[in-house]
Amino acid sequence: MTTVDIDTFDVVNPATGEVIAELPNTGTTEWFEALEKADHAKADWVALAPRKRSEILYEIFQQLMADADEIAEIIHSETGKAVAEAKGEVAYGAEYFRWFAEEAVRFPGRFNQAPNGNGHIAVTRAPVGVVLAITPWNFPIAMATRKIAPALAAGCTILVKPASETPLTMIKVGEVIASVFEKHNIDQGVVAILPTVRDAELSAQLMADSRLAKITFTGSTRVGKILVRQSADNLLRSSMELGGNAAFVIDEAADLEAAVEGAMQAKLRNTGQVCIAANRFLVHESIADEFTTKLSAAMEAATIGPVISAAQRNRIAQLVDEAVADGAQVIIGGEVPAGEGFFYPATVLRDVPAQSRILHEEIFGPVATITTFATLEEGVAQANATEFGLAAYGFSENVRAAQYLAQHLEAGMVGINRGAISDPAAPFGGIGQSGFGREGGTEGIEEYLSVRYIALP
Ligand code: NAD
Repeated sequence: MTTVDIDTFDVVNPATGEVIAELPNTGTTEWFEALEKADHAKADWVALAPRKRSEILYEIFQQLMADADEIAEIIHSETGKAVAEAKGEVAYGAEYFRWFAEEAVRFPGRFNQAPNGNGHIAVTRAPVGVVLAITPWNFPIAMATRKIAPALAAGCTILVKPASETPLTMIKVGEVIASVFEKHNIDQGVVAILPTVRDAELSAQLMADSRLAKITFTGSTRVGKILVRQSADNLLRSSMELGGNAAFVIDEAADLEAAVEGAMQAKLRNTGQVCIAANRFLVHESIADEFTTKLSAAMEAATIGPVISAAQRNRIAQLVDEAVADGAQVIIGGEVPAGEGFFYPATVLRDVPAQSRILHEEIFGPVATITTFATLEEGVAQANATEFGLAAYGFSENVRAAQYLAQHLEAGMVGINRGAISDPAAPFGGIGQSGFGREGGTEGIEEYLSVRYIALP
């Protein structure tokens, strides 16, 4: 079968609305060629000594860091995030290669005598095989490297479909990986980068092919559910890093300065377009006025980048307008500015009614909602009143309150007196409608391994 794909798609700079690249869509031909190559390459890749795979991953880390300025410029141009922030993302994204270079030589396993004395139990791990990764636009490098690095460390081969808003970063990362592979005579089929806007059609076709072993996805809960359903026919392994609705609970015994600093990190990184962004600030009623004043001043003084698209900006504006119609009070912001680019101002809403949509959906923008509680138990109950469970934050200088927050906030990740929690050495992932699976940490590699039990005499 030969399908010629001649259609193209545009990549837009969200700060100006300008088209910065026109890329050819990969299509059925490229996807199935990539699958064939990945399937073929996997035997040699897994046969490499773990130490060798580790060294290759470490070299990719070094090369990404050497090219950090260039990659940051690309991220800046296709996401609109500030260059300094983009450079931070490159370091964070590259770190997954360093971390998993270290993990590549430390797979867990065990060997013990069977309790009945009739033999021994050996447990090892084997790579799952060929992986399809689909990634979002908000962190174009990091959301992909946290999949590619553990997959390679585990001995898997991988096809990556970057978000069509931000494919340029991953094309560059693909070139870096290819250059390191070339130096070491590694089959280029081990990693493929496949930009396209035909995501739904092509991923469905690929998942129907029995050579694919796993789908790993980061993106919206809506699309994650579609992929889980599609993956059922071939019983693919799957990891789903989906949406969030993080609560940020501030106890009456919180250090207010630290809470505001943490709030700024948890709210404004990447203009709020972060799955673990604080969506809901729940503040003890005795300090709510002071917190509102301080957070509003800090947010007003911050430089706010554009959001990714006009559609995303409209969604944010609609959520805010609806909250205001529901009775929320606007402290700062709330109006779409005139001029080029997809900008939305820093916005603080106070006393948002509990049923308002903005408290139940991911905002994905520079908008903070503030509501109050009278007791910590009530605050935690409000925090947990969501179907999502990705991240939550708690601030208190009181040890018992901090411990209560750590134990009772229901999420895959809980920050205590910390507004920035991402770390390649820690397991990132959620519960409930935020999905399943973990990325990073010692847990991250398990997603790409299957357990093999060997019964021995
Ligand atoms: P999205 O779900 O629209 O798209 C994500 C990716 O899926 C893109 O590459 C897109 O092209 C592709 N896609 C879309 N529809 C598809 C389909 N039917 N079949 C196959 N692929 C399809 O999400 P987005 O708007 O790019 O990203 C924002 C979302 O990502 C937010 O909900 C955010 O919370 C989530 N996110 C989660 C994490 C996490 O680790 N949990 C991290 C970052 C972002």
